[in-house]
Amino acid sequence: MKETLEKTPKIRSLEDALHRCQFLGMRISRQRRYILELLWKTKEHLSAREIYNRLSQTGKNVGHTSVYQNLEALSSQGIIECLERCEGRLYGTITDSHSHVNCLDTEQIIDVYVQLPQELIQQIEAQTGVTISDYRIDFYGYKEPEQSKIN
Ligand SMILES: [Zn+2]
Repeated sequence: MKETLEKTPKIRSLEDALHRCQFLGMRISRQRRYILELLWKTKEHLSAREIYNRLSQTGKNVGHTSVYQNLEALSSQGIIECLERCEGRLYGTITDSHSHVNCLDTEQIIDVYVQLPQELIQQIEAQTGVTISDYRIDFYGYKEPEQSKIN
């Protein structure tokens, strides 16, 4: 599992995502492209409903079922991120290990790359007897009132 993950190049742009589709032999339908374009443009974590709404608002009429099916296909192939939350599934762009900053007032989830000091990892390994190979951290907090108004 780890080996295959390391061999697969990381997806860092819309172009990378489209290339991965082609590489996997997935057809890049109009609907699929719209969804990938939207996710890479917003860089947010969105629900299927929100994705459907935003596409409709911009005049891109993609059927409800098609949105769900494409999100399922893209996330099962590791082309987009799928977050399981108690409110439902959210979809994002980054598929390799990353952490999240959860904004409690704006409900935004921001992708961040966090590298813990080796010291801390060794400490956790000593405490648990588990060799750490990967980690994802969830941070929680509030945006400044001025900043949340801009959004
Ligand atoms: Zn994410």
